[in-house]
Order: sequence, then C-alpha cells, then structure tokens
Amino acid sequence: RAKQAERGSVARYNRGVSEEIRGRVNLLHNLRGAFGANELFLVFQPQIDLATGRCVGAEALLRWRTGDGAMIPPDRFIPLAERSGLIVSIGEWVLRRACEEAARMARAGHASVRMAVNVSVIQFRDPHFLGRLRAAIEDSGVSPRQIELEITESVAMGEGDRMIELFGRVKAMGLDIAIDDFGTGFSSLSQLQRMNVDRLKIDRAFINDIGGAGKGGDIAGLVCGLGDRLGIELIAEGIEQAEQAGRLQAMGCQLGQGYHFARPMPAEDWRAWLAAHSSGSGAQGGC
Ligand code: C2E
Ligand code: MG
Ligand code: MG
Ligand code: MG
Repeated sequence: RAKQAERGSVARYNRGVSEEIRGRVNLLHNLRGAFGANELFLVFQPQIDLATGRCVGAEALLRWRTGDGAMIPPDRFIPLAERSGLIVSIGEWVLRRACEEAARMARAGHASVRMAVNVSVIQFRDPHFLGRLRAAIEDSGVSPRQIELEITESVAMGEGDRMIELFGRVKAMGLDIAIDDFGTGFSSLSQLQRMNVDRLKIDRAFINDIGGAGKGGDIAGLVCGLGDRLGIELIAEGIEQAEQAGRLQAMGCQLGQGYHFARPMPAEDWRAWLAAHSSGSGAQGGC
C-alpha cells in the first residue's frame, strides 16, 4: 500500500511539474505578445540622500499589465525572459525608455538626478550590448553621466575578469555602475576593488533585519564598513521605516530607497513627485 501511495504521489508530482512547465511556456508566449502590444512599462522609485532628504536619483523598474488588467511581477517574468533570450530586446527597450525619461528630467531642470537601470547578465554578455547602450544614449540625447547600470552581485562576481573589462568600458563612456543585491553573493574583496564600481546596493533582506530597539543590522553594518574602506558609496534598498533610515545613516550609508520614501511610480506621477520634492526642503519620507 505504501508503494501505491508513493506511485500516486509521484504521478501527482509529475502532473504538477508538467503543469508548471506548461504554465511557463504559456507565460512566455504571452510575454512575447505583451512586449509587442506595449503592455510593458516602467515605474520609477526615488533614491534619497539620507543626510539631506533630497532626491538624487530613481530606479527604473519594469512592469507588465496584461490586457485584462492583471499585474505580473518582474520576479515571475524576468527569469523566463532571461532563459528564452527575450530579455535582450526587452532590456534594450528598458534602456531606451529609461534614457528618454532621464533626458526629459534634465530638460525639466533635474540634470543631476540619476536614472538607475537594471541590466540582466544575459543582456550584458550580448556582444552588441555596448553598441546598443551607446545608441540608446545618443538617440535620447541624455548625458551618460546621468545613467547608472545596476548589475546583481552574483552575476558581477561570477563573470570574473570579463566583467571587469566590460565595467571599464561602460565607465569610460561616463556611466555609473552599481552592484545590486549586495551581500547575497560572495564577492571577493580584491575583485570588488578592481571593479571600480560607484555604488553598492545593500540587499533588502539586510535592511529588513534592522528592527526596532536597535536590533539587527549586523550585515548592513559590515557592508557599510566595507564601502567606507573601499571608498564606494552605499545605497540601502527596501527602507520601510524611519528607524531603519536613521540607523543606516548612522552606519555610514549615504543613500536610501524604499516605501518609507516613496513607492515606484508610473512616469507621470514620478515627474510630478520630482517637481514637488526638488524645490527647497527636499523629500521628507512617507508616501
Ligand atoms: P531589484 O533591482 O533589487 O529592485 C528592488 C525591488 O524592491 C523592486 O521590486 C522594488 O519595487 C522593491 N522595493 C522597493 N522598495 C521596497 C520596500 O520598501 N519594501 C519592499 N518590500 N520592496 C521594495 P520589483 O519592482 O518587483 O522588481 C523585482 C526585481 O526584478 C528587481 O529587483 C530586479 O532584479 C528585477 N527587475 C525589475 N525591473 C527590471 C528590468 O528592467 N530589467 C531587469 N533585468 N530586471 C528588472
Ligand atoms: Mg535594482
Ligand atoms: Mg536590488
Ligand atoms: Mg533586491
């Protein structure tokens, strides 16, 4: 009987797996269609100078709203887009759209507000990446100094010397580079130093860790010490409480991003937000 039960659960498992695969194939098919049908769009989340409260940048984040109004989170469709290679064209579109928005910000008088763009490793490895990046910048008329590329730590480190060379070329064009989700990978310190990146983005998990009554934050503290020693600016992602912002600032973290300051916003809301928060007093938290 035990054998039978086992067989039954294996069959159920197999059915579960094939359903999951079918689901993914379906989603990928829909994603291709969505990309063609302009169902993808960007939202923008402010990045704040913790000392002054001023907005120094925004991160562009991809969204997919299907024809029937459902929102599919990037964590679900980006891995699919990566596995199928579709991320190369989607990523190029993201870059172009983000550069256009940054150029628009500059025209509105916010030339010093950076635009951070997530770049997938698949995209980065593509032999045409640098050419596409240059074209996106030239066509939009944005200053490359206004653009920052975010690359996740695991990826940046896994690729070794090739990444260092590529980073060098991107930096030579005038862009900034940030290492995303920092603290979750296994950076070698020497590699980190040679990469010459501009910013480390402390992963949300470690910010989450910073609770009330002075608890947690050990890893965030370590990363801040590291950034300080290497002369790399720090930005914390996922700040949800004033308390966390305060503790991070005390640890030497310069910048922050999170629901405490503002949620990611569609372009029109972001433009209005920026206009409202750039005059005088700066951003005051809460959203
Ligand atoms: P990420 O680059 O680490 O982006 C930060 C994520 O944290 C975003 O999730 C953002 O909405 C969320 N977040 C920001 N503040 C808070 C907060 O205070 N609390 C909480 N709980 N979450 C916060 P999102 O937009 O769902 O994106 C998830 C991931 O998808 C991103 O992580 C990034 O890895 C990827 N992604 C998003 N857009 C793109 C893109 O255009 N290209 C590529 N290659 N990846 C993207
Ligand atoms: Mg990011
Ligand atoms: Mg991140
Ligand atoms: Mg993250």
